[in-house]
Amino acid sequence: MTPPAGLTPVDVVVVGAGALGSATAWQLARRGADVALLEQFELGHLRGASHDTSRILRRSYHSPAYVRLAGEAYDDWSCLEQEAGEPLVTAVGGVDLFPPGAAIPAVDYVASMAACGVPFAELSAADVTRRWPALSLPAGTTAVHQADTSIVPAGRGTATMQRLARSSGARLVDECPVTGLVDHGPSGVEVRTPATSYLARRVVLAADAWTNHLLAHLGVRLPLTVTREQATYFRPPAPERFGADRLPVWIWMDDPSFYGFPTYAEGGNGALVKAAQDCGGAVTTADGRSFETDAEALQRLAGFVSGLLPGVGAPRRTVTCLYTLTPDRDFVVGPVPGHEAVLVGLGAGHGFKFAPTFGRMLADLVTQGSTGSDISGFATDRPALVDADFPLSWLV
Ligand SMILES: Cc1cc2nc3c(=O)[nH]c(=O)nc-3n(C[C@H](O)[C@H](O)[C@H](O)COP(=O)(O)OP(=O)(O)OC[C@H]3O[C@@H](n4cnc5c(N)ncnc54)[C@H](O)[C@@H]3O)c2cc1C
Repeated sequence: MTPPAGLTPVDVVVVGAGALGSATAWQLARRGADVALLEQFELGHLRGASHDTSRILRRSYHSPAYVRLAGEAYDDWSCLEQEAGEPLVTAVGGVDLFPPGAAIPAVDYVASMAACGVPFAELSAADVTRRWPALSLPAGTTAVHQADTSIVPAGRGTATMQRLARSSGARLVDECPVTGLVDHGPSGVEVRTPATSYLARRVVLAADAWTNHLLAHLGVRLPLTVTREQATYFRPPAPERFGADRLPVWIWMDDPSFYGFPTYAEGGNGALVKAAQDCGGAVTTADGRSFETDAEALQRLAGFVSGLLPGVGAPRRTVTCLYTLTPDRDFVVGPVPGHEAVLVGLGAGHGFKFAPTFGRMLADLVTQGSTGSDISGFATDRPALVDADFPLSWLV
């Protein structure tokens, strides 16, 4: 099919200026590609998955492939810090906490890190509370400590990648929704927006909760579930008792699964303690979601946190945010079947720590057709994404 006349030619259109799209535009522009990064809302909006203060960066993962990729993520973050001339990674250490009979097996984490030569320590509940007095653990709880676990800034980190994309020559166009995609084969992909339509050699969809909206233009659909998650900031009477010297990043490896941070000064929240439930949110849609706090989920979280962190105080404010989950909770990195010029990048509710890595991998695929990173588990046509009966497994 011949593309219509009058389209604006561009090497690559990246759809979505969240963390993944911004990282991809930065990586492509710094390699000299002519990139347009298109965002439907204003930059820095609060409707997607990359806003708020903090995200966890960790090496402790449930498979050697993820542990290796996390290792690359640390390198990619330091590359980003160097280029930005701005510190972004705050190492505080992290503990994965396993109560007796935990739903998430500790052996997966221990074996995966051991297989990759990542140092860690297995601790008893007494070891943990001795070292981190802010924590109070039920008897029999064990822990896996990894010293490199860090906090990275969500909103500021995304803005930094946008700044670098722009300074490397990318065009950032916000308030510019992509309303259509037409694959013209060797002639390129037509990308329609209300203002301008582009003819791109390649398109990268980094649209998270809106991914299927865009794929629909190509007659494709992935089995994605969007949930509305929330994180809450607690106001302890004595915030100094919850600093990184007394409280590491923690993840409660059970069902329900919770996680949290020591106090972290980003965004003026230095006296607040953040915690959340992983995959505790209701199923929703990208455009139909509410921004209201889910009172039941808040009560569940507050009940748990008040036991784990005595003295943490009352909830002060809650932020909502979207997860876009694949059935196996693995990422999506690769071309759309039947539309090789269109790539998808999706973080499945745990992608922020890998944002600079997604950027590098997707830019590799665009500029070289392959990447040195192992993305064999993230294919768009893997069983979890094509088999309608594939069992859901979101707790990792
Ligand atoms: C509460 C919460 C806590 C989390 N904690 C962690 C953590 O500790 N560690 C971690 O690694 N990950 C974590 N994650 C996951 C992580 O934040 C996400 O995986 C990541 O931010 C996804 O980034 P993204 O750029 O793909 O998505 P988004 O930031 O949602 O960006 C997608 C963008 O695409 C735009 N878009 C969509 N459709 C169109 C269109 N048609 N035209 C133009 N633009 C369009 C949207 O407006 C949006 O800006 C957490 C997520 C949540 C919700």
